[in-house]
Amino acid sequence: MNIIVDGSYFIAAILFILGLKQMSSPVTARRGIIWAGVGMLLATIITYFHQDIHHNYFWMTLAIGIGGAIAWVTGKKVAMTDMPQMIALYNGMGGGAAAAIATVVLMQNNNSHDVTHQALAVLGALIGAIAFSGSMIAFAKLQGIMWKVYRFKNQQWINLAVFLTTIMIGLHLSFSGADYGMGLLVFFFALALAFGIMMTIPIGGADMPVVISLYNAFTGLAVGFEGYVLGNPAMMIAGIVVGSAGTLLTQLMAKAMNRPITNVLFSNFGDGGTGEAEKVTGSMKEIEASDVAVMMAFAEKVIIVPGYGMAVAQAQHKVWEMSKLLQERGVTVKFAIHPVAGRMPGHMNVLLAEAGVPYDIIYDLDEINEEFATADVSLVIGANDVVNPAARTDTNSPIYGMPILNADYAKNTIVIKRGKGTGFSGIENQLFFADNTRMLYGDGAAATNELISGIKEL
Ligand code: NDP
Repeated sequence: MNIIVDGSYFIAAILFILGLKQMSSPVTARRGIIWAGVGMLLATIITYFHQDIHHNYFWMTLAIGIGGAIAWVTGKKVAMTDMPQMIALYNGMGGGAAAAIATVVLMQNNNSHDVTHQALAVLGALIGAIAFSGSMIAFAKLQGIMWKVYRFKNQQWINLAVFLTTIMIGLHLSFSGADYGMGLLVFFFALALAFGIMMTIPIGGADMPVVISLYNAFTGLAVGFEGYVLGNPAMMIAGIVVGSAGTLLTQLMAKAMNRPITNVLFSNFGDGGTGEAEKVTGSMKEIEASDVAVMMAFAEKVIIVPGYGMAVAQAQHKVWEMSKLLQERGVTVKFAIHPVAGRMPGHMNVLLAEAGVPYDIIYDLDEINEEFATADVSLVIGANDVVNPAARTDTNSPIYGMPILNADYAKNTIVIKRGKGTGFSGIENQLFFADNTRMLYGDGAAATNELISGIKEL
C-alpha cells in the first residue's frame, strides 16, 4: 500500500508543477488551475490510505467537509475585485496549517535529539505563524476593516527585539535537546504571531502587492519544511514550488514598485513619504462623452490605461467594444498595464483576456512608457495611483519612487472615474488637475457605453 500512497503523492506533485507551468500564460491558465486541483484532490484522497492515519477518519472528513464547503461557497460568491483579500486569507490559512502541523510535531518531539528534524519543524512553525498573522492583517487592510498604516515611535527596534527573541527561543527548541515544556512552545508561537502582525501594520500606501506575495512565498516555504518533517513528498514539492514562485513574484513586485527587497524585508517600505505631501493646485475640468468620442475617433493613436475602477465597473467588455470601433476607423489602440494596477498581480491582464483583447496590443510599463509622448489621447479608466505624477516628483509622497505610466505625456489625457475619490494609497493626483487633462465623470462601464454611442454616431 505504501508504494501506492507515495506514488500518488509523487503524481500529485507532478500535477502541481505542470499546473503551475500552464498558469504562466492566460491561454492555458484555466487548464493549469484544473490540473493543480486534480493533484490536490488526489493527494487528499490518498492520505486516507496513509499508514500513519489509523483512527482519524472522522476528524479528517469533518475538517475537509467544513473547509471545502466554506471555500466552495465563498469561491463562488467572491467578486473579482475582492480576490486579493481572498488570496490573503487562503494564503494565511496555508501558513497557519503548516504552523499547526509544526505544533503537533514539536509537542511529540519534546526532548528530541534529532536536530535537523527539530530545526526544520521550528523553522516551518516560525515562517508559517508569521505568514498566518501577517496575511490576516493584509486581509483586514484590503477589506478596509483596519487602518491602512499604523506606526509608532521606535517601531523598528521593537520589531527587531521581538524577532530576535523568537529566534533565540527557536534555537533553544531546535538544538538544546532538553525538555522545553508547553509553556515555552506557546510563548514561541505567540511571539511569532505577534511579529507577523507587527511587521505588517506599518505597511500601507501602494506596497500591499509586495507584502501579499512575500507571505505567499513564506507559506510555501513553511509547507515545504513541514513536508520534509512529515516525509511527505507532495507537501515538500508543493511547498517548494509555491515558495520559489512567491519569491520570484515578490522580486518582480518589489522591482515594479522600485523598492529594494531589503527594504521590504526590514519593513522600511511604505515609508516613502512621512512629511507633508505637495499641495495639488489648479482645477479639474469636466468634458462631455460626445467630445471625447470625437477626440478619439479622429486620433491617430489612443493608449488606454485600465485600473482598479475598470475592474469595479466590470467595464472590460465595453472597453474592448469601444477599442474595436476605433480600430475600424484606423485609430491605433494600445493598452498600457502597470504591474500593480488593480488589486492583484496580473489583475488587468486577466480582465482584458476575459474580454478577448488580443495580447499583442497589451503592453507592460517598460514597453509602452516612451510611447505616451506620441499618443494623441491617453484614456485612463478607473486608474489613479499608477498614473500619479507625484511618484516622480514629490519626495514626501507615500508612492514616491514607484515607476508610473506616463499618461500625462500624451497630447490629451481623459480620465474616467465616478467623482473625486482617491486611489488605494489615499492621495490626491495632480494629473487630474493638469491643463491637458479632462475628466469624464461616471461609472467606468456607463461612461464607456456613452463613448461607444458617441463614436457610432460619427
Ligand atoms: P487606484 O486604487 O489607485 O484607483 C482606482 C480609482 O478608480 C479610484 O480613484 C476611483 O475613483 C476609481 N473608481 C472606483 N470605482 C469606479 C467605477 N465603478 N468606475 C470608474 N472609476 C472607479 O487604482 P490603480 O489601479 O491605479 O492602482 C492600484 C493600487 O492598488 C496601487 O496603489 C497598488 O499598489 C494597490 N494594490 C495593488 C495590488 C496588486 O497586486 N495589483 C494589491 C493591493 C493593492 P472614484 O471613487 O472617484 O470613482
